[in-house]
Amino acid sequence: MKSEKEIQQILPPPPAHMVGDGFRVHNFFPHGYNIDQRRMSPFFLLDYNAKMEFPPKDEPRGVGVHPHRGFETVTIAYHGKVAHHDSKGNQGVIEEGDIQWMTAASGILHKEYHEVGFSRKGGPFQMVQLWINLPAKDKMSPPAYQAITNAQIAKYEIPGNKGTIEVIAGEFAGVKGTAHTFTPIEMYNMRLKDKTEIAFDLPEDYNTGILVVEGSVLVNGKEVAPVDNFILFKNVGTHISLRAEKESTLLVLSGQPIKEPLVAYGPFLMNTKEEILQAYNDFNAGKFGHLED
Ligand code: MN
Repeated sequence: MKSEKEIQQILPPPPAHMVGDGFRVHNFFPHGYNIDQRRMSPFFLLDYNAKMEFPPKDEPRGVGVHPHRGFETVTIAYHGKVAHHDSKGNQGVIEEGDIQWMTAASGILHKEYHEVGFSRKGGPFQMVQLWINLPAKDKMSPPAYQAITNAQIAKYEIPGNKGTIEVIAGEFAGVKGTAHTFTPIEMYNMRLKDKTEIAFDLPEDYNTGILVVEGSVLVNGKEVAPVDNFILFKNVGTHISLRAEKESTLLVLSGQPIKEPLVAYGPFLMNTKEEILQAYNDFNAGKFGHLED
Protein backbone atom coordinates (compact mmCIF):
# COMPACT_ATOMS: atom_id res chain seq x y z
CA MET A 1 0.00 0.00 0.00
CA LYS A 2 1.52 3.27 -1.12
CA SER A 3 1.18 6.23 1.17
CA GLU A 4 -0.64 9.30 -0.05
CA LYS A 5 1.34 12.47 -0.69
CA GLU A 6 -0.53 14.84 1.58
CA ILE A 7 -1.83 18.22 0.43
CA GLN A 8 -0.39 21.11 2.42
CA GLN A 9 -2.54 23.85 0.89
CA ILE A 10 -4.35 24.84 -2.28
CA LEU A 11 -3.16 28.36 -3.04
CA PRO A 12 -5.29 30.78 -5.09
CA PRO A 13 -3.32 33.15 -7.35
CA PRO A 14 -1.84 36.06 -5.36
CA PRO A 15 -2.40 39.61 -6.72
CA ALA A 16 -0.80 40.11 -10.13
CA HIS A 17 2.01 42.52 -10.99
CA MET A 18 3.61 43.52 -14.28
CA VAL A 19 7.04 42.31 -15.38
CA GLY A 20 8.05 44.91 -17.94
CA ASP A 21 4.88 45.75 -19.88
CA GLY A 22 4.46 42.29 -21.41
CA PHE A 23 3.86 39.88 -18.55
CA ARG A 24 1.10 40.18 -15.97
CA VAL A 25 2.12 37.58 -13.42
CA HIS A 26 0.96 35.96 -10.21
CA ASN A 27 4.02 35.03 -8.18
CA PHE A 28 3.20 31.87 -6.20
CA PHE A 29 6.71 31.70 -4.77
CA PRO A 30 8.97 32.98 -3.33
CA HIS A 31 7.17 36.34 -2.86
CA GLY A 32 3.43 35.70 -3.24
CA TYR A 33 2.97 33.84 0.01
CA ASN A 34 4.84 33.92 3.26
CA ILE A 35 6.71 30.68 2.65
CA ASP A 36 10.41 29.97 2.98
CA GLN A 37 12.33 30.83 -0.21
CA ARG A 38 13.70 27.27 -0.29
CA ARG A 39 10.31 25.62 0.27
CA MET A 40 10.04 24.52 -3.40
CA SER A 41 13.80 24.09 -4.02
CA PRO A 42 15.22 23.50 -6.59
CA PHE A 43 12.37 25.66 -7.98
CA PHE A 44 13.02 29.17 -6.68
CA LEU A 45 10.37 31.22 -8.48
CA LEU A 46 7.06 30.58 -10.18
CA ASP A 47 5.60 33.48 -12.16
CA TYR A 48 2.29 32.67 -13.78
CA ASN A 49 0.68 34.87 -16.42
CA ALA A 50 -2.89 33.58 -16.14
CA LYS A 51 -4.83 33.62 -19.40
CA MET A 52 -5.70 37.15 -20.50
CA GLU A 53 -6.21 39.13 -23.70
CA PHE A 54 -3.57 41.54 -24.92
CA PRO A 55 -4.92 44.15 -27.36
CA PRO A 56 -2.99 44.61 -30.64
CA LYS A 57 0.16 46.75 -30.46
CA ASP A 58 2.73 47.54 -33.15
CA GLU A 59 5.68 47.87 -30.77
CA PRO A 60 5.89 44.52 -28.93
CA ARG A 61 5.47 44.50 -25.16
CA GLY A 62 8.05 42.75 -23.03
CA VAL A 63 11.12 42.98 -20.84
CA GLY A 64 14.33 44.66 -21.99
CA VAL A 65 17.91 43.47 -21.60
CA HIS A 66 18.72 42.12 -18.13
CA PRO A 67 21.24 39.68 -16.61
CA HIS A 68 20.93 36.35 -14.78
CA ARG A 69 23.50 34.22 -12.95
CA GLY A 70 23.43 31.05 -10.87
CA PHE A 71 20.26 29.36 -12.11
CA GLU A 72 18.06 28.41 -15.07
CA THR A 73 14.94 30.09 -16.44
CA VAL A 74 12.24 27.91 -17.95
CA THR A 75 9.48 29.53 -20.00
CA ILE A 76 6.40 27.55 -21.00
CA ALA A 77 4.00 29.09 -23.52
CA TYR A 78 0.37 28.02 -23.23
CA HIS A 79 -1.11 30.84 -25.33
CA GLY A 80 0.60 33.58 -27.32
CA LYS A 81 4.20 33.70 -28.56
CA VAL A 82 7.34 35.08 -26.98
CA ALA A 83 10.50 36.11 -28.82
CA HIS A 84 13.82 35.77 -27.09
CA HIS A 85 17.40 36.97 -27.65
CA ASP A 86 20.47 36.47 -25.47
CA SER A 87 24.08 37.64 -25.32
CA LYS A 88 25.36 34.22 -26.47
CA GLY A 89 23.68 34.77 -29.83
CA ASN A 90 20.75 32.47 -29.17
CA GLN A 91 17.36 33.65 -30.33
CA GLY A 92 14.02 32.14 -31.12
CA VAL A 93 10.29 32.24 -30.72
CA ILE A 94 8.54 30.23 -28.03
CA GLU A 95 5.31 29.16 -29.72
CA GLU A 96 2.19 27.75 -28.09
CA GLY A 97 3.05 24.44 -26.41
CA ASP A 98 6.82 25.04 -26.60
CA ILE A 99 9.34 25.35 -23.81
CA GLN A 100 12.49 27.34 -23.55
CA TRP A 101 15.01 26.13 -21.00
CA MET A 102 17.81 28.66 -20.54
CA THR A 103 20.78 27.84 -18.34
CA ALA A 104 22.08 31.25 -17.26
CA ALA A 105 24.71 29.63 -14.99
CA SER A 106 27.90 31.81 -15.07
CA GLY A 107 26.01 34.70 -16.63
CA ILE A 108 23.95 35.83 -19.55
CA LEU A 109 22.02 38.87 -20.75
CA HIS A 110 18.66 38.38 -22.38
CA LYS A 111 15.42 40.08 -23.38
CA GLU A 112 11.92 38.65 -23.71
CA TYR A 113 9.20 40.20 -25.87
CA HIS A 114 5.89 39.30 -27.41
CA GLU A 115 6.57 37.97 -30.90
CA VAL A 116 5.89 40.71 -33.49
CA GLY A 117 3.08 38.92 -35.32
CA PHE A 118 1.31 38.05 -32.09
CA SER A 119 1.75 41.60 -30.81
CA ARG A 120 0.22 43.17 -33.94
CA LYS A 121 -2.74 40.81 -33.87
CA GLY A 122 -3.22 40.63 -30.09
CA GLY A 123 -5.08 37.80 -28.44
CA PRO A 124 -5.00 35.33 -25.57
CA PHE A 125 -1.73 35.09 -23.68
CA GLN A 126 -0.79 32.58 -20.98
CA MET A 127 2.74 31.75 -19.81
CA VAL A 128 4.70 30.22 -16.98
CA GLN A 129 8.21 31.23 -16.03
CA LEU A 130 10.20 29.20 -13.53
CA TRP A 131 13.56 29.93 -12.00
CA ILE A 132 15.36 26.70 -11.17
CA ASN A 133 18.34 26.93 -8.85
CA LEU A 134 21.67 25.30 -9.66
CA PRO A 135 23.89 23.55 -7.12
CA ALA A 136 27.08 25.43 -6.15
CA LYS A 137 29.26 23.21 -8.33
CA ASP A 138 27.29 24.15 -11.47
CA LYS A 139 26.55 27.84 -10.85
CA MET A 140 29.56 29.00 -12.86
CA SER A 141 29.26 26.48 -15.69
CA PRO A 142 28.87 27.86 -19.24
CA PRO A 143 25.45 29.22 -20.25
CA ALA A 144 23.32 26.91 -22.37
CA TYR A 145 20.00 26.94 -24.13
CA GLN A 146 17.44 24.22 -24.86
CA ALA A 147 14.71 25.27 -27.30
CA ILE A 148 12.15 22.50 -26.99
CA THR A 149 9.26 22.53 -29.43
CA ASN A 150 6.03 20.80 -28.50
CA ALA A 151 6.71 18.12 -31.13
CA GLN A 152 10.05 17.33 -29.45
CA ILE A 153 8.60 16.82 -25.97
CA ALA A 154 8.39 13.12 -24.99
CA LYS A 155 4.78 12.06 -24.51
CA TYR A 156 2.86 9.39 -22.66
CA GLU A 157 -0.57 8.73 -24.13
CA ILE A 158 -3.09 7.78 -21.45
CA PRO A 159 -4.81 4.54 -22.52
CA GLY A 160 -8.35 4.95 -23.82
CA ASN A 161 -7.71 8.28 -25.53
CA LYS A 162 -8.00 10.07 -22.18
CA GLY A 163 -5.26 12.59 -22.68
CA THR A 164 -1.52 13.15 -23.01
CA ILE A 165 1.26 13.63 -20.53
CA GLU A 166 4.15 15.71 -21.84
CA VAL A 167 7.24 14.55 -20.00
CA ILE A 168 9.30 17.71 -19.92
CA ALA A 169 11.89 16.34 -17.45
CA GLY A 170 12.36 13.20 -15.39
CA GLU A 171 10.36 10.13 -16.27
CA PHE A 172 6.70 9.18 -16.38
CA ALA A 173 5.51 5.56 -16.87
CA GLY A 174 8.78 4.64 -18.57
CA VAL A 175 8.82 7.70 -20.84
CA LYS A 176 11.99 9.71 -20.31
CA GLY A 177 11.77 13.50 -20.21
CA THR A 178 13.21 15.70 -22.92
CA ALA A 179 15.03 18.45 -21.02
CA HIS A 180 18.47 18.09 -19.48
CA THR A 181 18.50 19.04 -15.79
CA PHE A 182 21.41 19.50 -13.36
CA THR A 183 19.58 18.03 -10.35
CA PRO A 184 16.80 15.42 -10.25
CA ILE A 185 13.58 17.07 -11.45
CA GLU A 186 10.22 15.69 -12.53
CA MET A 187 8.23 18.10 -14.69
CA TYR A 188 5.11 17.10 -16.60
CA ASN A 189 2.46 18.94 -18.51
CA MET A 190 -0.72 16.87 -18.17
CA ARG A 191 -3.43 17.46 -20.72
CA LEU A 192 -6.38 15.47 -19.37
CA LYS A 193 -9.78 14.90 -20.92
CA ASP A 194 -12.89 15.36 -18.77
CA LYS A 195 -13.16 12.71 -16.01
CA THR A 196 -9.72 11.26 -16.68
CA GLU A 197 -8.17 9.67 -13.61
CA ILE A 198 -4.42 9.32 -13.26
CA ALA A 199 -2.21 8.25 -10.37
CA PHE A 200 1.54 8.33 -9.95
CA ASP A 201 4.28 8.48 -7.36
CA LEU A 202 6.90 11.10 -6.62
CA PRO A 203 9.64 10.75 -4.00
CA GLU A 204 8.68 11.78 -0.49
CA ASP A 205 11.57 14.22 -0.07
CA TYR A 206 11.01 15.99 -3.42
CA ASN A 207 9.33 19.38 -3.12
CA THR A 208 6.14 19.05 -5.12
CA GLY A 209 3.36 21.25 -6.45
CA ILE A 210 0.84 21.32 -9.28
CA LEU A 211 -0.38 24.42 -11.13
CA VAL A 212 -3.90 24.15 -12.57
CA VAL A 213 -3.45 25.87 -15.94
CA GLU A 214 -6.87 24.91 -17.33
CA GLY A 215 -9.91 23.20 -15.89
CA SER A 216 -10.28 21.80 -12.41
CA VAL A 217 -8.96 18.72 -10.64
CA LEU A 218 -9.91 16.53 -7.69
CA VAL A 219 -6.75 15.70 -5.73
CA ASN A 220 -6.39 12.46 -3.74
CA GLY A 221 -10.18 12.09 -3.85
CA LYS A 222 -10.48 14.90 -1.31
CA GLU A 223 -10.01 18.48 -2.42
CA VAL A 224 -10.87 20.24 -5.66
CA ALA A 225 -8.31 22.69 -7.05
CA PRO A 226 -9.80 25.17 -9.55
CA VAL A 227 -8.10 26.86 -12.48
CA ASP A 228 -5.11 29.14 -11.73
CA ASN A 229 -4.59 27.54 -8.29
CA PHE A 230 -1.38 25.91 -7.08
CA ILE A 231 -1.53 22.71 -5.06
CA LEU A 232 1.36 22.59 -2.58
CA PHE A 233 2.15 19.13 -1.18
CA LYS A 234 3.76 18.24 2.13
CA ASN A 235 6.96 16.19 2.10
CA VAL A 236 4.94 13.25 3.35
CA GLY A 237 4.01 10.20 1.27
CA THR A 238 4.52 9.52 -2.40
CA HIS A 239 1.21 8.75 -4.09
CA ILE A 240 -0.91 11.34 -5.90
CA SER A 241 -4.22 10.62 -7.58
CA LEU A 242 -5.92 13.15 -9.83
CA ARG A 243 -9.32 13.27 -11.45
CA ALA A 244 -10.07 15.93 -14.04
CA GLU A 245 -13.42 17.55 -13.26
CA LYS A 246 -13.46 18.92 -16.80
CA GLU A 247 -10.89 19.06 -19.60
CA SER A 248 -7.77 20.18 -17.74
CA THR A 249 -4.13 21.13 -18.15
CA LEU A 250 -1.85 20.67 -15.15
CA LEU A 251 1.81 21.56 -14.69
CA VAL A 252 3.41 19.11 -12.25
CA LEU A 253 6.65 20.26 -10.58
CA SER A 254 8.71 18.02 -8.32
CA GLY A 255 12.39 18.11 -7.49
CA GLN A 256 15.06 17.00 -5.09
CA PRO A 257 15.83 19.97 -2.83
CA ILE A 258 19.25 21.64 -3.12
CA LYS A 259 20.42 21.73 0.49
CA GLU A 260 22.92 24.59 0.27
CA PRO A 261 22.91 28.18 1.53
CA LEU A 262 21.01 30.49 -0.83
CA VAL A 263 21.45 34.23 -1.26
CA ALA A 264 18.97 35.69 -3.73
CA TYR A 265 19.30 39.26 -4.93
CA GLY A 266 17.61 40.74 -7.99
CA PRO A 267 18.42 38.58 -11.02
CA PHE A 268 21.13 36.55 -9.26
CA LEU A 269 20.87 33.37 -7.17
CA MET A 270 24.11 32.50 -5.40
CA ASN A 271 25.33 30.79 -2.23
CA THR A 272 26.97 33.78 -0.49
CA LYS A 273 26.73 37.59 -0.32
CA GLU A 274 30.28 37.81 -1.70
CA GLU A 275 29.16 35.93 -4.82
CA ILE A 276 26.25 38.37 -5.27
CA LEU A 277 28.69 41.31 -5.10
CA GLN A 278 30.95 39.51 -7.58
CA ALA A 279 27.98 39.07 -9.93
CA TYR A 280 27.28 42.84 -9.86
CA ASN A 281 30.98 43.59 -10.39
CA ASP A 282 31.21 41.18 -13.32
CA PHE A 283 27.97 42.53 -14.81
CA ASN A 284 29.18 46.14 -14.52
CA ALA A 285 32.54 45.13 -16.03
CA GLY A 286 30.74 43.80 -19.11
CA LYS A 287 31.60 40.15 -18.43
CA PHE A 288 28.07 39.01 -19.23
CA GLY A 289 28.56 39.96 -22.86
CA HIS A 290 26.60 42.42 -24.95
CA LEU A 291 23.05 42.58 -26.25
CA GLU A 292 21.31 45.44 -28.07
CA ASP A 293 18.10 46.74 -26.52
MN1 MN B 1 14.89 37.00 -17.56
